Amino acid sequence: YVAIKNIRKTFNDQTVLHDIELSFEKGELVTLLGPSGCGKSTLLRILAGLTRQDSGTISLDGKDITNLKPKAREIGMVFQSYALFPNMTVLENISFGLKMKKEDSQTIKNKVARMIELTGLEGKENSYPRELSGGQQQRVALARSLVMEPKVLLLDEPLSALDAQIRKKLQQQLRTIQRELKMTMVLVTHDQEEAMAISDRIFILNQGRIAQQGTPNEIYARPANEFVAGFIGNYN
Ligand code: ATP
Ligand code: MG
Repeated sequence: YVAIKNIRKTFNDQTVLHDIELSFEKGELVTLLGPSGCGKSTLLRILAGLTRQDSGTISLDGKDITNLKPKAREIGMVFQSYALFPNMTVLENISFGLKMKKEDSQTIKNKVARMIELTGLEGKENSYPRELSGGQQQRVALARSLVMEPKVLLLDEPLSALDAQIRKKLQQQLRTIQRELKMTMVLVTHDQEEAMAISDRIFILNQGRIAQQGTPNEIYARPANEFVAGFIGNYN
């Protein structure tokens, strides 16, 4: 469904991605896991078209999207900082993208209501972002991206700003929503436990290279090398 081939990226003299190859299926939740600076966000931004790779190709749903602008890729993105519109209510934040696409108002109403329900934001429709907790704001950010029905949703450390308890709860909610919508998601995290808990498949990055890929169980049972063993072993 998504195939990334030979993606290379160099900043100044530092190669941060070395010929990355990875692919995954429709409806999967895959995680890019690795330590700070290993190139996770750079790879995600290249997928979204926000950063230009030096070489390599990306295809999505049988189509070469390597040279498409971000908007033409049908890929959504959720950032660590929720980046909501502060002067718009929850409802307005979630509706905004559909309004820009000029969908008719009844369709917008129905889709937004479904997202509010799915993300558990009932009762907060008319609140402003400043009136919400961090977890609620991140749910609005998620709803706002999901409502656009992207072919792939990219999430860059969406939960890392939240405290541990709320983070765990939102991890499970994210997984439930992903399954319910059968949404293809790529989650970036440096949290081993998070990756192990919610992924279909994990790609472990180390210094711009894929150190191992596999299901959580495969990686846990058979770490491919010392780096993976150390990194995974650190968690709990
Ligand atoms: P973190 O977990 O801390 O978010 P990351 O795995 O997302 O880390 P990236 O943000 O992809 O890491 O950065 C990978 C490397 O590329 C880092 O060494 C970073 O300094 C460098 N880098 C990223 N963006 C740029 C840029 N625009 N210009 C120069 N160097 C950059
Ligand atoms: Mg990052």
